[in-house]
Amino acid sequence: AKKDGIANTFKFYSLELYQRSSERVMLSNGLRRAIERNEFCLFYQPKLNLKTGRIVGAEALIRWQHPELGLVMPSKFIPLAEETGLIVYLSEWVIKQACSQIRQWQQQDLMPIRVSVNLSGRDFKRDRLVENVEQAIAAHEIAPNCLELEITEGIIVSHTSLTKEILAKLRALGIRITVDDFGTGYSSLSYLRNFPIDTLKIDRCFVQNIDKNDSDAAITMAVIDLARALSLEVVAEGVENQAQLEFMKRANCDCIQGFYFSRPVPATEFAGMLAAGKILEV
Ligand code: C2E
Ligand code: MG
Ligand code: MG
Ligand code: MG
Repeated sequence: AKKDGIANTFKFYSLELYQRSSERVMLSNGLRRAIERNEFCLFYQPKLNLKTGRIVGAEALIRWQHPELGLVMPSKFIPLAEETGLIVYLSEWVIKQACSQIRQWQQQDLMPIRVSVNLSGRDFKRDRLVENVEQAIAAHEIAPNCLELEITEGIIVSHTSLTKEILAKLRALGIRITVDDFGTGYSSLSYLRNFPIDTLKIDRCFVQNIDKNDSDAAITMAVIDLARALSLEVVAEGVENQAQLEFMKRANCDCIQGFYFSRPVPATEFAGMLAAGKILEV
């Protein structure tokens, strides 16, 4: 009986493990195919200058146009792409696509704005990143300062020396570097003076409860002051309402991004906003 129990337990676990891993295989095969079939697209969310109310940038956010599932959000496949290493190919595609979009908007006289793309930790474990960026910029003949790379605090903290080297090379090309989701999880601020960066982006989790939570408000103001003191630009992400907007204005934040002004939209819709001169009432 005892032997049976162990056998059953083993069977149970191996079945579950099997299902889990086969689901992963299915998804990652799906991702692999999706890369080959070009099933991804970029949505763009405006960043607004709080002094002028004008659109000064766009964050490119990836979506998977799945033949059966429809539009799949990045939270559903980026973690898997990171685990399997496929992220490197996705990032390569995102960089090219963003540069091509910048070129197109330039030709339509809709620039100058900056377009940012998100990168993952994996991208910083190989030197190819610099080459990819350099090639994409050259191929599309765009000014390097139109392109911005968003990297999370975690990337900077966890892969120090090579990361720093790669970032320095990218910045030497004239590309701007933003620390995304700033304030989440890492307490050491010393890297800020050692890393070649341009912008701090305050994480949405602080912005969300700014009017209800005194500590979130205090942290936000401290980050804005810190950015100011270090001559960095500061952006607040996830601004959803008038109260949050007013707070950021009072706190002297440079830029905001969030559903209050616009959700991420397809490229043509973004171009429409630029062409119409849509601005934020400030
Ligand atoms: P992120 O880089 O912090 O991007 C901001 C996310 O917050 C976006 O979600 C955006 O739609 C959402 N957001 C912006 N404003 C608001 C708001 O006012 N309220 C709320 N509730 N949400 C807001 P999205 O597009 O689902 O992307 C989620 C995350 O996926 C991104 O967070 C980024 O970490 C990752 N991601 C997106 N595209 C890429 C990509 O091309 N490459 C990589 N490596 N990661 C990506
Ligand atoms: Mg981002
Ligand atoms: Mg962010
Ligand atoms: Mg975020």
